Amino acid sequence: MHDENEKDTLTRRGFLGVSSVALAAAGVLSVDKLAAQQQSDYKQKSDRSASDPGPTNPAIDAANPDSNTPLPTDAGGVQTFKYPFSFAHKRFQEGGWSREVTQRELAVSKTLAGVDMRLTAGGVRELHWHTAAEWAFMLYGTARITCIDAEGKSFVTDVKENELWFFPPGIPHSIQGLAPDGCEFILVFDDGNFSEYETVLLSDWMAHTPPDVVAKNFGVSQKALANMPKKELFIFQTDVPGPLEEDRRVAAGKLGPSPIDFAFRTMQYPPTKRTKSGEVRIIDANNFKISTTSAAIVTVKPGGVRELHWHPNADEWQYFYAGKGRMTVFATGGRARTMDFETGDVGYIQKTLPHYVENTGNTDLKFLEMFKSSYYQDLALSEWLAHTPPELVAAHLHLDRATLDALPREKTVVMPE
Ligand code: MN
Ligand code: MN
Repeated sequence: MHDENEKDTLTRRGFLGVSSVALAAAGVLSVDKLAAQQQSDYKQKSDRSASDPGPTNPAIDAANPDSNTPLPTDAGGVQTFKYPFSFAHKRFQEGGWSREVTQRELAVSKTLAGVDMRLTAGGVRELHWHTAAEWAFMLYGTARITCIDAEGKSFVTDVKENELWFFPPGIPHSIQGLAPDGCEFILVFDDGNFSEYETVLLSDWMAHTPPDVVAKNFGVSQKALANMPKKELFIFQTDVPGPLEEDRRVAAGKLGPSPIDFAFRTMQYPPTKRTKSGEVRIIDANNFKISTTSAAIVTVKPGGVRELHWHPNADEWQYFYAGKGRMTVFATGGRARTMDFETGDVGYIQKTLPHYVENTGNTDLKFLEMFKSSYYQDLALSEWLAHTPPELVAAHLHLDRATLDALPREKTVVMPE
């Protein structure tokens, strides 16, 4: 047994959590007392050692309690997996604005990048394309989108809140805000290094092509082209467009409209899974044929948790667009980190790493799970354990039969069921 001096030393060093484990291993503490002991060790350690008398930023600390006072289950260095759009530079133009969170802002986000864009009524994100694929989610208002498909046939449609679109690489497109108040949307690109400010823009291209070549290309006089912009427009203000049917008719011309639907009417379909604690809508190449980016649109009600799970096939890029939550990413080798999320935050989880997302607020938590893959794939802890011989599971986790039998038999997505 330990003498008084040794106990004092342990207490002073604040290493009781570790020593409790050692004591339990040595048979001094019973296993069932260990958890309670660790809890009280942690509380002591928090009270004494977690004090922060120097300068702090109270507002940011309060918004990030799990970073400021890590949970006892957090440990080790886990690469930061959160970046708020509020930190991103906002590029203002007449007609709207744009801001982006890429690998340059959030180092871990290698496979996907996001852009938050606002367009006024009539405001245009100018005709352009890029090397990455563009997946989009409407957050507010209405927009008219246009593109031509790989055969040159036109696509023109209007989209509203919760609806999606997808433009493959190299497909030229535009977005315009409609009355009464334009739109706001999230764009997700399948390249962490993407930049919305380095795309092929119609105006930029023309400004960097010799005017005589442009004139020859169009078979018109150079004089007729004299008013073309001398630099890129990117976003600009113009009039709200006329009726959709008329835009469709003139854009289609003799070729006719594209047979491809580049938009997805999310709310015309039931949720993929719904429990009393929330729901998920999975949208991938199974139901949105053109898309090579897959998505889960998740709602977790107060008190609910997006269950412990992982994704075998791709990294996950997240955008939180309502409510408050926390997420722990278990990063192997005893490392885990919990971070807090709220509206406007981007999250990221590397392929195969386990995680959960818990609603910590009193309103619905809503977020996008995005993947650079045509097909959505996840595995849940519950379905794994339910489909493994029960004796084997019990031997690992020291669960009795009644508890084992009570575990969900399949993926629930959002618990409690
Ligand atoms: Mn684009
Ligand atoms: Mn996930």
